[in-house]
Amino acid sequence: MAHLLITGGAGFIGSHTALVLLEAGHSLVVLDNFSNSSPESLQRVKALAGLADDARLQVIEGDIRNPADLDRAFGAAHSIDGVIHFAGLKAVGESVQQPLRYWDVNANGSRCLIEAMQRHSCRTIVFSSSATLYGFPETVPISETAPVQPINPYGHTKAAVEQLLADVNACEPSWRIARLRYFNPVGAHPSGRIGEDPGGIPNNLFPFISQVAVGRRPQLQVFGGDWPTPDGTGVRDYIHVMDLAEGHRAALDRLLSHEPELLTLNLGSGLGCSVLELAAAFEAASGKPVPYTIVDRRPGDAASTVADPSRAAELLGWRTRRSISDICRDGWVWQSANPQGYDV
Ligand code: NAD
Ligand code: UDP
Repeated sequence: MAHLLITGGAGFIGSHTALVLLEAGHSLVVLDNFSNSSPESLQRVKALAGLADDARLQVIEGDIRNPADLDRAFGAAHSIDGVIHFAGLKAVGESVQQPLRYWDVNANGSRCLIEAMQRHSCRTIVFSSSATLYGFPETVPISETAPVQPINPYGHTKAAVEQLLADVNACEPSWRIARLRYFNPVGAHPSGRIGEDPGGIPNNLFPFISQVAVGRRPQLQVFGGDWPTPDGTGVRDYIHVMDLAEGHRAALDRLLSHEPELLTLNLGSGLGCSVLELAAAFEAASGKPVPYTIVDRRPGDAASTVADPSRAAELLGWRTRRSISDICRDGWVWQSANPQGYDV
């Protein structure tokens, strides 16, 4: 059993990963300021994991930019063996409007966290990076050796933190670091008790489709029908959030059991799915219509981004196990049971 600090553990990916780590027997401290999540998600994680008390899941409300909050989180356990760092801001469009805020939370927040790790002699970290840092990929599927060329402030902050971690590793090779580049995380735990709960109008396709199916939005706007893809709509690599959560467990197991190393891994399925294919799969899973209209392309979109996930398979023995229809089934269980998300 390891003692782990999970920043941003109340959020979408953090809550599912927390559950997988609790089920694997680990003991967790979650640090979250709830700026984009609800404490309710962690109550549900606790119930799903069958925890009778708070001994293995301690929740600290605080900000990764505040050294005192970080010290409280590290002080909540006798020692922290590793950190999984999810906390951050993730909306591409918002990052264009508010670049300083994104650099502060994502880049400065990560620097504060790494400083706190040094103060507390913890040198193992799994970092939430993103396929967005590949920008407009030159070849698809995309391997980890593809150039890092982000095209918006959000992507720039992810690339900066990746570089910060590489610099720390070069200076102190005793660090154990995994930089995990997620493709498109979607879906929910099959119980429907935890899932994605975006505030306001969803920017991303999957929660938008879910809200159309449940009747919260009238129709989907498909951003472009003239892409150079088989049906003319954008192609992405959608990964079930439970597969992603299991990828974190596998990365952590590797870091804690191998010599110190700097890992850079794509986490994706390797399979492309178009906007129209995803909408049709959701209709089939939910039995609800997902009406749509095709509108102009969204600025900054790429035609197709699909992972080459072979390095993660080789180094972690991990690959996705859940299909697009599993994703839609579980996403629908969550959406239909929680039409307003955690605001019940
Ligand atoms: P999320 O917004 O659901 O979770 C992030 C969590 O961090 C939230 O609980 C939020 O309250 C918390 N947080 C934000 N700022 C904080 C701060 N200053 N101090 C403490 N807590 C703070 O997002 P998610 O989808 O779970 O994403 C988790 C991570 O994965 C993010 O770093 C994101 O950039 C990255 N990522 C997400 C996606 C995606 O599509 N969801 C894709 C690639 C990478
Ligand atoms: N998309 C769409 N309508 C929406 C949201 C997204 O057609 O309301 C398309 C978008 O153009 C892209 C795909 O769905 O081709 C995935 O978009 P998302 O924002 O979910 O992920 P990302 O673009 O960050 O990979």
